[in-house]
Amino acid sequence: MITLGIESSCDETSIAIIENDRKILANIISTQIPIHQKFGGVVPEIASRKHIVNIMPVLDEALNKAQLKLSAIDQIAVAYGPGLVGALLVGVSAAKALAFSLDVPLLAVNHLEGHIFANFLSHPDLEPPFIALVVSGGHTALVNMTDYNSFSMIGQTRDDAAGEAFDKVARLLGLPYPGGPQIDKLAKTGNPHAIDFPHALIKEKNYEFSFSGLKSAVINYIHTADQKGLSINKADVAASFQKTVIDILVHKTIMAARSTGMKTIVLAGGVAANSLLEQKLTEKCRENDLAFYFPSKILCTDNAAMIACRGYYQSLTGNFADMKLNAVPYLELSDSHL
Ligand code: ATP
Ligand code: MG
Ligand code: FE
Repeated sequence: MITLGIESSCDETSIAIIENDRKILANIISTQIPIHQKFGGVVPEIASRKHIVNIMPVLDEALNKAQLKLSAIDQIAVAYGPGLVGALLVGVSAAKALAFSLDVPLLAVNHLEGHIFANFLSHPDLEPPFIALVVSGGHTALVNMTDYNSFSMIGQTRDDAAGEAFDKVARLLGLPYPGGPQIDKLAKTGNPHAIDFPHALIKEKNYEFSFSGLKSAVINYIHTADQKGLSINKADVAASFQKTVIDILVHKTIMAARSTGMKTIVLAGGVAANSLLEQKLTEKCRENDLAFYFPSKILCTDNAAMIACRGYYQSLTGNFADMKLNAVPYLELSDSHL
């Protein structure tokens, strides 16, 4: 079974081809990061236009890499939400056109579920059940995954996502977009105990997160130093901020595994590439006798292989879409029609 996956929800145009459940034949990712960098964030209109320009060359490259003709494709999986509506529409339109012209089934994939499924591509032995921590640019959620096609979200952020907090704090520190990798790097030279930022909701016995207060605390810290004419140590701010976010994420994730009795934790989304998060979850999972999985770096951020993998498992239950499929920009993890 050959599945072609399409991802265009934000600023990556990606097309992948996978064989059966987990074998990647091609995973071409054309990123627009350098284009959006000068604006300090993704400009939706520019993103849509670039997807239109990129999508056919990316498709050709994927077919070349896999050494396959279009006629070899058995089904098409596309991320239809959440994301930027204009950006999603490019992928959805391309997927519908391909499915119609090739007369093959169409699969509508939730982008956030795709992030979780990136783990199956990196780990051939991984199987549900597990607790997934989804930490991306727009989302922070704990998901109880009992089977390939059965999820329940047990908690999420009340305001900013973890990745969003990284990007906003990086911007305050004058670092380029996307800020997560920049903070990760700068934090390595700073003291994580230098500044005591608030750990919102850490003592609450629920699985909710809040990062907007932390962002305000960083703004206040920088403004206060400014008013006093003091210079700040950017590496210390980055390290202290990062440690606060990671402490909260790790604490709630371990708590979720313990209270549900799950023996495995899986990390997903762009922030899964964070080196401290990986290190701390590895340590805590070992202490608590839990197995821990995270995707390879290239599969953490947006890519079409994860969409194809999610689509493949969806196809096993006959959950196909039709030509009425539309982009759903505010699709939630819990909204899946599973
Ligand atoms: P969503 O998946 O919620 O729709 P998105 O697709 O924009 O959002 P992803 O591609 O999953 O987000 O991840 C991008 C985010 O990951 C950005 O916020 C980026 O700063 C963050 N990120 C990437 N690498 C790191 C890192 N090493 N440390 C922390 N954050 C990181
Ligand atoms: Mg991106
Ligand atoms: Fe994403």
